[in-house]
Amino acid sequence: VERTLVLVKPDGVSRNLSGAILARVEAKGYRLAELKKTAASREQLEQHYAEHVGKPFYEPLLDFMLSGPVVAAIFEGERVIEGFRSLAGATDPTVAAPGTIRGDLGRDWGLKVQQNLVHGSDSVESAEREIAIWF
Ligand code: ATP
Repeated sequence: VERTLVLVKPDGVSRNLSGAILARVEAKGYRLAELKKTAASREQLEQHYAEHVGKPFYEPLLDFMLSGPVVAAIFEGERVIEGFRSLAGATDPTVAAPGTIRGDLGRDWGLKVQQNLVHGSDSVESAEREIAIWF
């Protein structure tokens, strides 16, 4: 069965939205297979965000992801990767569609990084790579 890595980013955890976010994913019909709250290390984040090295938001992104704990989860189900990304909404929370996690719960806070509440893997290959980083 297909798996995806979901992270509730530090903004979601600090705003006490972890449960609400996970509940939306469960309510769509995906199975929660693994769950933990953890403080990310810089090494984990460098692996996780390797594709973004050198981009202007890379250092602000790592600083943001190190600013507090994250909740890491593995969800399972048919087409869960695509399904979760649809549920999460567009990267920029200001314009993410209403009805999505980012569209309903997020906005731009005027910082150098999009504080957009969640991460979800974008392919089977990245899901397996990311699951190995976090679990
Ligand atoms: P994620 O991978 O976290 O699910 P995504 O696939 O929508 O989000 P990516 O392009 O992979 O977005 O970027 C990873 C993260 O980097 C984003 O979720 C966001 O926090 C931050 N980010 C991406 N693009 C920008 C940008 N132009 N300005 C500021 N932050 C950005």
